[in-house]
Amino acid sequence: MNQQRLGDASRPLRVAIIGAGPSGFYAASALTKQGGVEVEVDIFDKLPTPFGLVRQGVAPDHPKIKSVERAYHRTARQPEVRFFGNVEFGRDINRAELRDYYDQIVYAVGAPSDRRLKIAGESLLGSVPATEFVAWYNGHPDYAALDFALDGEDVVVVGNGNVAVDVARILARSVDELATTDIADHALQRLRESKVKRIHMLGRRGPAQAKFTTPELRELGELAGVDVVVDPADLALNPISAVRADEEREIARNLEILQAIADKPLTGAAKQLHLRFFVSPVEVVGDGRRMTGVVLERNRLEVDESGYQRSVGTGERALLPAQLMLRAVGYYGVPLPDLPFDDRRGTLPNVAGRLIDPATNEVIRGEYVVGWAKRGPTGVIGTNKADATETVAQMVEDLPLLSGVAADKASAEAAEAWVRAKQPNVVSYEDWELIDQVERERGEPLGKPRQKICHREEMLALIASAKAQEGAHL
Ligand code: NAP
Repeated sequence: MNQQRLGDASRPLRVAIIGAGPSGFYAASALTKQGGVEVEVDIFDKLPTPFGLVRQGVAPDHPKIKSVERAYHRTARQPEVRFFGNVEFGRDINRAELRDYYDQIVYAVGAPSDRRLKIAGESLLGSVPATEFVAWYNGHPDYAALDFALDGEDVVVVGNGNVAVDVARILARSVDELATTDIADHALQRLRESKVKRIHMLGRRGPAQAKFTTPELRELGELAGVDVVVDPADLALNPISAVRADEEREIARNLEILQAIADKPLTGAAKQLHLRFFVSPVEVVGDGRRMTGVVLERNRLEVDESGYQRSVGTGERALLPAQLMLRAVGYYGVPLPDLPFDDRRGTLPNVAGRLIDPATNEVIRGEYVVGWAKRGPTGVIGTNKADATETVAQMVEDLPLLSGVAADKASAEAAEAWVRAKQPNVVSYEDWELIDQVERERGEPLGKPRQKICHREEMLALIASAKAQEGAHL
């Protein structure tokens, strides 16, 4: 075909985006805004529902953060954008096929796994990645069958990032408050029966090194019915941390909040949230099957050549009895079939979003990465916008170098026929809107924004029955 015409009205650029989370939607949105380039964008997701971590990761008691879905909805409703839900890369469709049907492919697959602590006993029952707990309370279909028996009084949350704060807050917050959110019903049920009295959130370094953000920390201090406990001794800063607190407003504000919490008298509330610093779990102990506690070691900070203050064990150890340990020490990427993977960073190897072959550092023409799969699991949702814009700029720059797919496969119709042949139960954006509407209707009498449907089969049955009814009315 004539290379000059790729992206013209007569031959729109055909792009597949793998993953319908924030980074995928920001990439789609940026692609539709490239003046002079006509595009057709198909967004694939293995789940029947779009929006990735906005639906499956953002805490249910943070509805404002979820309002970004409105922007994604506008993108999805554009005529040049389609959603193919319930289609899994590597299972239903593969890379070679995508290369046959699309001029460019964007991997927006996030970082769906978790980092490990690499300590003895980590695999005992009760020691779980926080990512699984998050997916469970958010009604992710792949995690809905898990069960978190909250029958012990002490829960350990390892980590000092916003995920640790999220899970600690969900465990601490009153169930009546959670009942008005879109938390999954199975999780609400378990939290209602919860016997948890003490939540211990562990930072391996100090408060000046914590990764959580100020509004999230402040919210912890304001939880009703919870005594938050901070040891004032942990707030004393070494000279390097004191300089950082002087230079960085967020650290200074976090320290002010922590000081105010430390100064507040305890009220004898039913639940306590202990924010501990300079402490690491070094072993999970148990009865051979279930964990019964965690051995903690006190840390001190040691500065390396680059000025980074890392935690070093002091040898001072103590046992903390606990029946559940949620490891919130970071998400981690998962390799995709047939694609290169950077084991160290947990990302798809790339330069500014262009996929590369790590063996040769050569660019793999026509394939790109956005979001956490590109840069690792850092930043807030909005960070993905600039990130996607950068990748899309490379995609547009590469247009003259592309030869384009074969003419018989270069159409929306051809691609759709192929997808439906591979996965007959593909979920369109209109199908998702039906699920969305049903969830909202079910939530309304309960005072919830939505009552999430947490099982694929139920979603697919709902769509099938709506289509059958539609057919009967024709
Ligand atoms: P994160 O911000 O990178 O925090 C990970 C935490 O785990 C850090 O405190 C880290 O400590 C600690 N850690 C790592 N390895 C450890 C080990 N072996 N032992 C003990 N502690 C260890 O990651 P995240 O909490 O998973 O969050 C991911 C991203 O999502 C972040 O950018 C976050 O802000 C964002 N997020 C935002 C929100 C929100 O806006 N409300 C909610 C959830 C997530 P070191 O600093 O010592 O490494």
